[in-house]
Amino acid sequence: KWKEILQRVRDEHELSEISFTTWIEPLTIHSVEDNLITILVPSEKMGLDYVSKKYTLPIKVAIAEITGVNYEIRFILPEEVKQEKAPAPVQKNLYVPNLNPKYTFDTFVVGSNNKFAHAASLAVAESPGEIYNPLFLYGGVGLGKTHLMHSIAHFILQKNPSSRILYVTSEEFTNEVIEAIRNSNNTAMTKFREKYRNIDVLLIDDVQFIIGKESTQEEFFHTFNTLHGANKQIILSSDRPPKDMDILEDRIRSRFEWGLLADIQSPDYETRIAILRKKQELDGYSVSDDVIEYIASNIKSNIRELEGALNKIIAYANLEKREINIDLAEQVLRDIISPNEKKVITPEFIIDTVADHFDITPSDIVGSKRSSKIVFPRQIAMYLCREMLDAPLTGIGKMMGDRDHTTVMHGIEKIEKEMSAKDSVRNTVDILKKKINPSK
Ligand code: ADP
Ligand code: MG
Repeated sequence: KWKEILQRVRDEHELSEISFTTWIEPLTIHSVEDNLITILVPSEKMGLDYVSKKYTLPIKVAIAEITGVNYEIRFILPEEVKQEKAPAPVQKNLYVPNLNPKYTFDTFVVGSNNKFAHAASLAVAESPGEIYNPLFLYGGVGLGKTHLMHSIAHFILQKNPSSRILYVTSEEFTNEVIEAIRNSNNTAMTKFREKYRNIDVLLIDDVQFIIGKESTQEEFFHTFNTLHGANKQIILSSDRPPKDMDILEDRIRSRFEWGLLADIQSPDYETRIAILRKKQELDGYSVSDDVIEYIASNIKSNIRELEGALNKIIAYANLEKREINIDLAEQVLRDIISPNEKKVITPEFIIDTVADHFDITPSDIVGSKRSSKIVFPRQIAMYLCREMLDAPLTGIGKMMGDRDHTTVMHGIEKIEKEMSAKDSVRNTVDILKKKINPSK
């Protein structure tokens, strides 16, 4: 990755070969701690001054683009390294996981709905592997499971930057198992096992998607036993408690129940208010109490939607240069607030779910960007509208930013082809279908 970062600095700033080889290429990572990357400049003092003056920002930007994390950077010289007594050159942590920097304990609002899950998470973060193992967090969609899991990981990393933490979604886990099995040479499997068994903390999000897949359950079972036997902390999340996971093998169910089960409920009114206040404060807005109360009294079950509503109001206010007040809130939220909370599956809902899953926005999906990061989700959304709603091709085209029906047909065929060729694509589609319609 470091190479890639340096290449990006070169490309973005169109550095000449000589500048690149003189200043950039020789840089190496000395250490990564919390949010600080220390970079070793092999030449003398002058080189350090120049590089830090000229390239600090480009390098920071490239790091943020490639890792998704905003690291601070610092340059040092070889002499300084020698002076730094003790902890022998901190090894580059190969396990810095993909964590959302915003999901920390500091930004998590504790309410009566999540008090227990929060306390359990904090206890595990303070003493990983020592008391509650595994920690099993469960609760409905958008109630803060992922936020708590990331908070635990951040907390552990902060106290001990070299701890080997792996955070994966069960989709990633499943796809890796599938890949390892499919490349039937032993090295793929060995690699997989090395990766998952030589760690200190394993977090698997949404384990409900692992169940029902025999080979994945098997591999999960062994991974679990190895780590648990070595007192390594395991943290799992799911949309329901183990006892309600129908097709779960009993031996795995009992493993889930070994440690601590902690549920998260829907937030009560006070908690919803507190979450909205915290959020506008973190985002640097000031929204009046009556608007916050309006949102909190109308959106009840899901914190993601609560935040979404606030974001939507702020976005409208900015776009239309209007003041944030009750009138605007009522107007903007009219279509979100439905009198009966029953969810009908609509194309919009499919698009939202797919976008959320791939961490892009709904407007990316209906927009015109053509990068593969967007095109693949877009085609999946087309496929799902066809498959789940039996919508006509022209209708789907209209929904997806006025595309014509041959484009839609092409997209759908492409996904069908990939599904028959790649287990991992089929797995992704399965997971999305379950997200869109859990009762199926
Ligand atoms: P889940 O994984 O349970 O579906 P997430 O952890 O993704 O839910 O939470 C959905 C959104 O709500 C996230 O943006 C998260 O930061 C926010 N959120 C959930 N619970 C809280 C809380 N107690 N305090 C602050 N934000 C929260
Ligand atoms: Mg989640």
